[in-house]
Amino acid sequence: MEQPAAISIRNLVKRYAASGNAPPKLALDDVSFDVPQGQIFGLLGPNGAGKSTLINILAGLVMKTSGTAEIWGFDIDKDLRNAKRSIGIVPQEIVFDPFFTPFEVLENQAGLYGVPKHLRRSMELLGQVHLADKAGAYARTLSGGMKRRLLISKALVHTPPVIVLDEPTAGVDVELRRQLWELVAELNHGGVTVVLTTHYLEEAEQLCDRIAIINHGQLIANKPTRELVEMAREKVVVVTVDGDVTRLPSSPAFLKCVSAGERTIEITYDKDKSNAGEVLAQVQAQGLTVVDVTTREADLEDVFVSLTTAAKVAA
Ligand code: ADP
Ligand code: MG
Repeated sequence: MEQPAAISIRNLVKRYAASGNAPPKLALDDVSFDVPQGQIFGLLGPNGAGKSTLINILAGLVMKTSGTAEIWGFDIDKDLRNAKRSIGIVPQEIVFDPFFTPFEVLENQAGLYGVPKHLRRSMELLGQVHLADKAGAYARTLSGGMKRRLLISKALVHTPPVIVLDEPTAGVDVELRRQLWELVAELNHGGVTVVLTTHYLEEAEQLCDRIAIINHGQLIANKPTRELVEMAREKVVVVTVDGDVTRLPSSPAFLKCVSAGERTIEITYDKDKSNAGEVLAQVQAQGLTVVDVTTREADLEDVFVSLTTAAKVAA
């Protein structure tokens, strides 16, 4: 039997009302996807795409306009209590009472979640994020990196099966980014399903098993990272021929062949398996006379750009 999703989102819509000078904003536009259990799932998108809105709906901090969300099988409308118990959320903004120590921060959080004293594991959690030696220091004396790690351990006090990190590495230096990546990988290795949002393509590619791309509130891709990277291995030859195309050429070397105008054909091929010369030879072998050729190549950045611009055009 197929495993249920760790998170399941269907037709999620969020419309922020107008306030002050700000017009109303459709921040999430009919978003549906599943986060498979046991994965590191990346929600990738530029600033303003709607990532935090989505996370904050799961956290119960933002009221959705419509649609449904289930966390570990618990509907956030019908069973908020269990839904909340199943998820730990690390918010984008760092907020702590500066006069609590890391140990107290975790104890307070455990109290909030009703974790009985004998089941609390504050020191263990601090050890996990390499903060054991800071257990008694005031939060305000921690570096930015330490605060982020403390936030992560805070999200883990009730031992949720899913943890969500909203832009864990935005604005952090390279060294800390590596540390956070390691920590995320360790957590996942320990069986926790991880969702992270990021606007760094490279981060998603390095860390995530699966990547969903959100842009202007719309989900425009949702694929295993490997497949998304595969898309970046594609190259496109645009061929203009000397007469109207009545039948598109075909070849095992072509991944895709589409008409892009009466006399223009766009052929996609895998650059590891073929090349422009072979593609042209195939076209000519099928009786077409080529009068002009251009090529383009994609990397993950291009895949991202082409997906986001396509969505913009469609919107
Ligand atoms: P991201 O996290 O991907 O950067 P957000 O979810 O924060 O995106 O924002 C999505 C859109 O919703 C943005 O245009 C943002 O300005 C708008 N937005 C976010 N929060 C509010 C709010 N409380 N009121 C009105 N608009 C908001
Ligand atoms: Mg955000």
